Amino acid sequence: MQNSFEIAVFQGDGIGPEIMSPTLEILRDMAAAGGYGLNFVDAPAGAAHYAQTGESFPAASMDAARSADAILLSAMGLPDVRYPDGTEISPQIDLRKALTLFAGVRPVTVRPGQPTPLALAGGQSIDFVLIRESTEGLFYTQGCGEVEADEARETLRITRAISEPLFRFAFDLAKARQTSGRSPGKVTCVDKANVFRAFAFFREMFDAEAARHPEIEATHAYVDATALWMVEKPWEFDVMVTENMFGDILSDLGAGLMGGLGLAPSADIGHDHAVFQPCHGSAPDIAGKGVANPMAMILSAAMMLDWLGDKHDVAQMKADGNRLRAAVDAVVAKGQTLTRDLGGTASTAEVAASIRAALA
Ligand code: NAD
Repeated sequence: MQNSFEIAVFQGDGIGPEIMSPTLEILRDMAAAGGYGLNFVDAPAGAAHYAQTGESFPAASMDAARSADAILLSAMGLPDVRYPDGTEISPQIDLRKALTLFAGVRPVTVRPGQPTPLALAGGQSIDFVLIRESTEGLFYTQGCGEVEADEARETLRITRAISEPLFRFAFDLAKARQTSGRSPGKVTCVDKANVFRAFAFFREMFDAEAARHPEIEATHAYVDATALWMVEKPWEFDVMVTENMFGDILSDLGAGLMGGLGLAPSADIGHDHAVFQPCHGSAPDIAGKGVANPMAMILSAAMMLDWLGDKHDVAQMKADGNRLRAAVDAVVAKGQTLTRDLGGTASTAEVAASIRAALA
């Protein structure tokens, strides 16, 4: 079949398989109706796999990820399953490094009807994208930081090889949003250039890329002020781009603005590969109860359809990405079938059924 794509599927731990299963069902139906192919290939990995086999990320699963057209990943890791050095099993981070997925894309959207801790004026909405560099920064020495009796050290690394394509990606995204009429076109570099030389270097490369895009407004903000402004005036952001650890923290703040992690999707994108996964973890406290919110996983699948459709120029896939997001929006706006993280009582299966009904 023309336009047939292989998708490596990491089912994940805890609630991972519970939210992956309805997501794959929805994708199968959309592909069948839309005339494109999605061939799902299971890639075992994660904490439960490590507990059973002593292996957290089998080479065959990495090969499946490497050869796939896209990677769909549910939440990974369990707090009680750890390597002997005390750190957790996190194949999602291994993938970011192995496949150089430098652009962690975290859309933050709050539409009318969506729960948010902020008091939005009537008709006011939040719609920005946080891009978290995902391969270096303060995660550079992850797993090999030096710990002595009275001192521990980790290293922050910023490179030109990663930062330049990262900023290009950010400006291209702002341009695409501007062209679609979604935003006026602005990129904010979030750093701590007032204190650290590495961030002055980061900012210098941002400014060089900004100079190539006179049609896009380029601004700077310190990370501490950004945390404040994300709460005080989040509607003023369009695309923001930042270092790995800053992005890790700010993306959870973004999820908080969206009423919690249950509605926060993400994509980790590199030159050739991309992973689509919810921002949340494996939620072991609710695993096995059938009450996990599948929306972040489903919205991540919509981002995968956008990305594949764009990359391979398949209009139907791009349209389906939009349809899937609209279906989730409709269910949220209606407010009748929500899981308990969003104030409802519905089960995972009931929410998935409502999304399918909205799609129909
Ligand atoms: P978590 O995101 O799993 O859970 C935080 C809280 O949010 C919990 O109360 C949980 O019940 C709730 N929650 C999360 N997702 C939900 C959903 N879809 N529906 C309803 N409620 C939801 O964070 P945690 O408890 O800090 O971490 C649990 C495990 O997940 C840890 O092992 C951690 O390392 C791992 N983790 C993985 C990822 C990932 O795979 N990208 C991200 C974060 C944490």
